Amino acid sequence: MFQRDLFTPDRLFCPGPTPVPKSVALAMGETSIYHRSDEFYKVFRRCGDRLAPIFGTSTLPLILTASGSGAMESVLVSLTDVGDEVVVVNGGKFGERWEKLAKAYKCETETVQVPWGQAPTAAAILTAVSRQKQTKAIFLQANETSTGAYYKVDSLVKELRRSYKGLICVDAISSLIAHPMKMDEWAIDAVVSGSQKGFGLPPGLAFAALSERAWGQLSARPRFYFDLEKERKGQAEGRSAWTPAASLVFALDAALQHLHEVGIERVLDHHATLAKAARAAVQAMGLELFAVTAPSNTLTSITVPAGVDGQRLVKRLRQRFGMFFAGGQDELKGKIVRFSHLGFVSRFDLIDGIAALEFALREEGFHLDLGNGVKAAMQNMVSSNAQQ
Ligand SMILES: *Cc1c(COP(=O)(O)O)cnc(C)c1O
Repeated sequence: MFQRDLFTPDRLFCPGPTPVPKSVALAMGETSIYHRSDEFYKVFRRCGDRLAPIFGTSTLPLILTASGSGAMESVLVSLTDVGDEVVVVNGGKFGERWEKLAKAYKCETETVQVPWGQAPTAAAILTAVSRQKQTKAIFLQANETSTGAYYKVDSLVKELRRSYKGLICVDAISSLIAHPMKMDEWAIDAVVSGSQKGFGLPPGLAFAALSERAWGQLSARPRFYFDLEKERKGQAEGRSAWTPAASLVFALDAALQHLHEVGIERVLDHHATLAKAARAAVQAMGLELFAVTAPSNTLTSITVPAGVDGQRLVKRLRQRFGMFFAGGQDELKGKIVRFSHLGFVSRFDLIDGIAALEFALREEGFHLDLGNGVKAAMQNMVSSNAQQ
């Protein structure tokens, strides 16, 4: 439909999968791996140890062969029984996923509906809790990827903890690496994530970390593939219960090695800088931010301006420039563009993404001065330290 611009490679600007660095891609090339070997156990266990500080926990995060939803399901099944009362926060497609999971597993579910693009308040969550006799667990996202809203779990959980004593389970699938997570310090009982978001791997691995408290409250439900207790025992020695996606484990090892060398604090600062620059660029282009009250360091959601067909815009970016942005889903179809800056994304990647947006918007008939977005982004990413 659109003529491909010359010599443009495919690039990912969608919130998962994210760009895979070369060292990570090369690590996946290792094919002669026996997963029941001391060499593999060592690599697997090292991955767990290096995931722990990213989750902010002293317990060992478990590595599962699944997409992120598998980790969500494993946590819900492990911590709730049929008929348990739970509260789910639904502020978009992923909150809806917690709700569907809880209902599928026959929990008595109270839903906190959050307007799309906004973050929930602790008061709204506590109201839902007060409607129940004894809430077993609250399930929420840290970053609602479908709308680009970040929920500030730090202060939110602190407020909840003033009166709420049950379990708190956070889907941090798209927030880890871009936003801090200190599950032990913040008194969170379960955190899940996935390989194709901040970790810069292709999809296929999911992670689940449980607090000591959560380990002490496992449900009596039947389970088999996702038996976290069984995984916990084996993974302490680097053994997964089932055949793991071994090539992805090597890739994870390479990605974590890189993050470990750079230091997670610096990586978090980098994401904050990119996000700030992206927001400044969007505004300088004369566009509006969608999740304006709950900005995320993972992705920037942009309101498609009047007169522009949002779906066509996303299609143009893909077909003409090879740039994979994400559109909106359901009620947001055609209304927003989601611009991810999660994972192994550089300042220059961000500039390319903004330049592509400027070209594509211009071609779709939107009036803007080319370069305003790029200029604002660059000005917001100037390094203040001349030593660098
Ligand atoms: C990507 C994502 C998931 C998991 O999706 P999968 O397709 O199962 O990997 C869950 N929650 C959030 C917030 C996500 O961004």
